[in-house]
Amino acid sequence: MSKCSVLIIEDEKKIQVFMGKVLKRQEYRVLYADTGAQGLDIIRSQCPDIILLDLGLPDMNGDDIIKEVRSWTSTPIIVISARTAEREKVIALDLGADDYITKPFGTSELLARIRASLRHSNRLRTDENYYLRPYRHGDMTLDFSRRLLTVGTTEVHLTPIEYKIVAYLAQNSGKVITYSALLSSVWGPYADGDNKILRVNMANIRRKIESDPAQPKYIFTEVGVGYRMAEDETENA
Ligand code: CA
Repeated sequence: MSKCSVLIIEDEKKIQVFMGKVLKRQEYRVLYADTGAQGLDIIRSQCPDIILLDLGLPDMNGDDIIKEVRSWTSTPIIVISARTAEREKVIALDLGADDYITKPFGTSELLARIRASLRHSNRLRTDENYYLRPYRHGDMTLDFSRRLLTVGTTEVHLTPIEYKIVAYLAQNSGKVITYSALLSSVWGPYADGDNKILRVNMANIRRKIESDPAQPKYIFTEVGVGYRMAEDETENA
């Protein structure tokens, strides 16, 4: 198996070096860029398997880099951003970034994000039957072909809207999904931009699936951004 290549576009040397070390230890091939222009050159010439992109670069706006890259490739992009920059994250995700990681982050979080994004992009290319395979995490199983959600041995009754929300999050498990992406996947392109309907449905879903809705085990809130469903465990097998 050939090594997966990861491009790190980051002007802060300390963070660049930290990420490089972590990734090399996991047998990734690592490429580095200190500026946006350099990053775009490397993306064109080396076609990395995944891109880690700092949004605060000296020469270019991160959003412009995402737009540029998305005009010709679907290579996963994970945005690296500051803790308080929710708005920035949402814009980057809606422009086509796959996920984000917030500074300061730990090794396991970085690796989990990379794995989830790589898996998702491989799956889109190679595994057409993916959505027929049930999602599993902990005691919860979602069988897409039967539209059947179970927690332990209990069958959970979801409304059609609730099912669509859970199914979409499960199909994208491990990745953050913005409110607007979820709204348009469930209600279509004319979805109202209001998150309230989503929050109401999510509260009902959590009451049905979580033993403690205030401490969710299956669907997590990413404050100001969206939701993330716990990673499908069958994928790690
Ligand atoms: Ca920076």
